[in-house]
Amino acid sequence: MVRATPAAMPAAIFGERKPMRYKTILLFGAPGSGKGTQGKILSAIPGFFHSACGDVFRSLDLQSEMGRVFWQYSSRGELVPDEFTVQLWKNYIKGMEMVNQFHPESQLLVLDGIPRNVKQAQLLEDTLDVVKVVYLVCADMNKMVERLRRRALKENRIDDASEEVIRNRLEVYEKNTKPVTEYYPKDKIMTVDATMSQIKVLQKIIDVVTPIKSGIDHARETQEMSGLTPKHDERAKNASATSSNKPQPVGAK
Ligand code: ADP
Repeated sequence: MVRATPAAMPAAIFGERKPMRYKTILLFGAPGSGKGTQGKILSAIPGFFHSACGDVFRSLDLQSEMGRVFWQYSSRGELVPDEFTVQLWKNYIKGMEMVNQFHPESQLLVLDGIPRNVKQAQLLEDTLDVVKVVYLVCADMNKMVERLRRRALKENRIDDASEEVIRNRLEVYEKNTKPVTEYYPKDKIMTVDATMSQIKVLQKIIDVVTPIKSGIDHARETQEMSGLTPKHDERAKNASATSSNKPQPVGAK
């Protein structure tokens, strides 16, 4: 049985919706580079919606067929197959829109953990309008391994419990994920030293996303004033401040 998360719901039930490419900031970097930490901080700011692909996977019931597929790959430190991953994530984000958690017309999507290879980037072209890639760079692999080990203990992440799996995850990153930085135009990539303190990394990210967010707000206000778009309510404005964007089982006991 699959838990009734938006991710697990068949896309068909969401009905026909006008296709929209979500304005997106990609948080990019190796496992342990701090993408998730920064994404969670941004999600507390109104107007930002953070989605971590790994969290979407972890919200699946491991006894379900989808959950088993996820575990089969993640327990070895490998990537889950592309079509499966992208479809699952697309269903999830549509679900978030449907349940009024994600407001793409006013919120900037902060994405972490997807796309994780060039194929996924291609499969997401119809859905994402990537405006910036924040590339968290850490040259010291041992530092990453250390961070992942600590996180495994703190967050009970069994996929990072063994050194062998951690090393494999970092190898997969080098071989498959890093090339995604070549896929996007150079002027969209902003590199940030991931070994700096969290607040310094945050400062760099805020510097780059603030003008982007202001641009979206300005365009939205202009549209509202011209009567082209209905005024969006306060609930939409504050959605990301009041809710955790972590995948929540819908109707789960
Ligand atoms: P990290 O935060 O360490 O980068 P994640 O939580 O993003 O790790 O991912 C955990 C595992 O979930 C991955 O090792 C992989 O098996 C699977 N996974 C997450 N995102 C993707 C993706 N975009 N494509 C394929 N597999 C993924």
